[in-house]
This record gives sequence, structure tokens and C-alpha cells, in this order.
Amino acid sequence: MSLLELSGLTAAYGAVAALSGLDLAVEEGEIVTLLGANGAGKSTTLRCISGLLPPTGGEIRFAGAAIAGLSAERVVRLGIAHVPEGRRIFPRMTVRENLLGASNRRSARAALARDAEEMFALFPDLERFADTLGWMLSGGQQQMVALARGLMARPRLLLLDEPSLGLAPLIVQQVFRIIARIRETRTTVLLVEQNARLALAIADRGYVLETGRLVVAGKPDALWNNEDVRAAYLGGKRLSEESGAR
Ligand code: ATP
Repeated sequence: MSLLELSGLTAAYGAVAALSGLDLAVEEGEIVTLLGANGAGKSTTLRCISGLLPPTGGEIRFAGAAIAGLSAERVVRLGIAHVPEGRRIFPRMTVRENLLGASNRRSARAALARDAEEMFALFPDLERFADTLGWMLSGGQQQMVALARGLMARPRLLLLDEPSLGLAPLIVQQVFRIIARIRETRTTVLLVEQNARLALAIADRGYVLETGRLVVAGKPDALWNNEDVRAAYLGGKRLSEESGAR
């Protein structure tokens, strides 16, 4: 049984169809990336899984249970955390407060503090900023806080939407190194990314979407080396145009 299984998932915003029958599976322990051009339906897929948008049809199964249409609160309690695009952290709270305020599962202060210490071990830079207010952080630091907040809920599945958006290249690499380390915490990751090259470098498998449908799925190398896929959906140049492939 897969940890997450979508079958025939459809979703719409009013009259606008956003997903038209999507099938997808994520196995426990994997990093799976969801790629595709703007408007392909990637964020919508994550929003349906996390309960922010009720699907109009199809099924979502998590650890065997049907979860389509459940509220976001219930989905979080089942073990799915969603870090949406745009790094929504609390600007007037310190980094530590942002982390402590995020845990849904643990009420005991000592346990929460221990969780925060674990996050500081995973994100060493954050410890230096533990008492800094959210608004004073750089974009990269805010992204680290957003990732750590997602992990504080101790999810079995972490949904990440465009964690590299708007960050400088060096910071993006740092964020991706951390996502790769998240796997070591045995958290499964479904990663939506515009940066296909970096996403495929850390993923176990990838799916490419176009206008709400699956175009192709496979191992990172197969996707990256498929010239049609690269040219049409991954924003990459054809191999013959690029000096030194991946
Ligand atoms: P992006 O990288 O641009 O976010 P995406 O692959 O995540 O792309 P979605 O945001 O899921 O795509 O959008 C899928 C479709 O749904 C698009 O046609 C988009 O215009 C439409 N859409 C997304 N959000 C809304 C909304 N709040 N209201 C109406 N239409 C929307």
C-alpha cells in the first residue's frame, strides 16, 4: 500500500477546471517531485491533499484511509503538513515562537521545546536566529523557518510548494540540501518545484503535469534525459543546446 494515492482526482475553481483526473502515488520514505509549467495544477494538487480545497471528484487515500474532502485541521492531525508557497511565518514572533506555536500534536511544553531543539539540529542556522523576529529574517531564513514549522507537527508526509521561489541561487542550494536531509527524519516529501534540475537531483521519482493531467512519470534520470519533456515542461534547454548536462 502506498502512503499516498490519488486516483482520478478532479478539482476546479468555480467553472475553471484545475485538475482533470490525476493519478499519483507516493511511497513511504520517498521524495517525489511534481513538475510542470505555470498553471499545470501542481499547487492545486497539494491544496486538495491538505484539505484547503475540496476536490470535485476522485479519491485521495493516505495510509489506506480516504481523506478527500476532510478539513485541513483533520488532515494535519492525520500526519500531513503543508508548507505553502510564500513562506507564511508570523512576522512579529521570534523564530522560536514561530516554531513553538506550530505544533499541533504536542501540548507539553517540555516536549515542544525538545522538538524545537531537534529543528535547530536539522537547521543549524536557525539557532543563531532563535530570538530574532520573523520580519527581520532574509527570504532564505524565512524559508527555513517555514520548513521547520512544517516538520514541528511531526508529519508522516510533508507537502512543499515551491520552496526555492524568489531565493538567491546559493540559498536555494542550501534549502535543497535541507530537503534531502528531511528524508533522514523518515518524513516522506511531495515537492512542487519550478527548478526541475534541483528537484530531480534529490527526488526518487517525478511526475510532470500539464493542464491538470499527468503527462509522464518516472525516475529523475529518465525524465531529465527525455528531450521532449525537458523542452516542453521542465523549462530546460535541449541537451544539445546545453554545455555539460547534469
Ligand atoms: P503555479 O506554479 O503558477 O502556481 P501550478 O501548477 O501550481 O502553477 P495551480 O496554481 O494549481 O497551478 O493552477 C491550476 C489552474 O487553476 C490554473 O489554470 C490557475 O489559473 C487556476 N487557479 C489557481 N488558483 C486559482 C484561484 N484561486 N481561482 C481561480 N483559478 C485558480
